[in-house]
Amino acid sequence: MEILKQLSEAIGVSGAEQDVRRKILELIEPHVDEIATDTMGNLFATKRGTGGDDRMTVLVDAHMDEVGMMVTGYTGDGMLKVKAVGGLDNRILLGKRVLVGDDRLPGVIGAKPVHLLNGDQRSRVVEIDAMQVDIGASKKEEARRKAPLGTRIAFDSSFMDLGERMRGRAFDDRIGCAILVHILQGEPYPFDLVGAFVVQEEIGLRGAQVAAHRVKPDVAFVLEGTIADDLPKEDDESPTTELDKGPALSPMDRSVIYDRRLNRFLVQVAEELGIPVQFKQPGIGGTDGGAYAASLGGIPAAAISVPCRYIHSPAAIASKQDYQNAIRLLDGALRRLDRSVLAR
Ligand SMILES: [Zn+2]
Repeated sequence: MEILKQLSEAIGVSGAEQDVRRKILELIEPHVDEIATDTMGNLFATKRGTGGDDRMTVLVDAHMDEVGMMVTGYTGDGMLKVKAVGGLDNRILLGKRVLVGDDRLPGVIGAKPVHLLNGDQRSRVVEIDAMQVDIGASKKEEARRKAPLGTRIAFDSSFMDLGERMRGRAFDDRIGCAILVHILQGEPYPFDLVGAFVVQEEIGLRGAQVAAHRVKPDVAFVLEGTIADDLPKEDDESPTTELDKGPALSPMDRSVIYDRRLNRFLVQVAEELGIPVQFKQPGIGGTDGGAYAASLGGIPAAAISVPCRYIHSPAAIASKQDYQNAIRLLDGALRRLDRSVLAR
């Protein structure tokens, strides 16, 4: 769990992924043949294949960025005004501890004390535009100096081992980054493997669009931390995914219909290895798979996701077994992958 802990505690709100990129580089550099970054900040790690000259290129994607906030202004008494970067839930923000900027200035998303709320205010959700981040500054100029416009703000929490499960920040998508690091640290495959640690997924799959054109892979696998919604419900709704039921495959989400040949292949591999898999409820969320499938001539894409409760919040909960099974499933699939999988 050490790799996931390290990556989870790195900070990389969209467009400012450098801390995550640095940590990943340290972990993979001795294990790959080639490393490159592009102007956006995408990181490409190539592990050359053992096969012949006509070998395939397979891209495995994990996004480095996480949701957070950005400083957009100041109040006269030194508070930061903010906007969301990516999909944030206003209900969970008030009162949370945050880290501001590259220097990780501690702050809190200020909330009116409960004693002062009238009935209507207690039941209403405060919009992010009305929130303020308090870094202890007492004047506008001090706040501006410590946190210039555009400064990123991230949730402040640490990784915890909970036994069979684990808790941490930014599991979406550091859990994918950690799986990809494990794969790159292992033995080479017959094809060229390009680990693409991409930027700016949370604001519209932007890094992956650029990565697709650079790498031009034959196949793309996308690793994600995805929504688990398996808690007791009043209505008899089916959950998106559930903890401990294995890595989740996706038939379709809002970004793409995933490649059926690849999904069938992944199910076969899981059966062969005795790994449980589940299908994520279709139609919810999106992944970089949407960018790959719609790039160039259409790159066949599949997603392997680890279910995470409370995703896009300061602390998600995931299952160690699901995480380890996702690594085993991807490695098993890559060991078996050849052009016949894509034959019509
Ligand atoms: Zn994600």
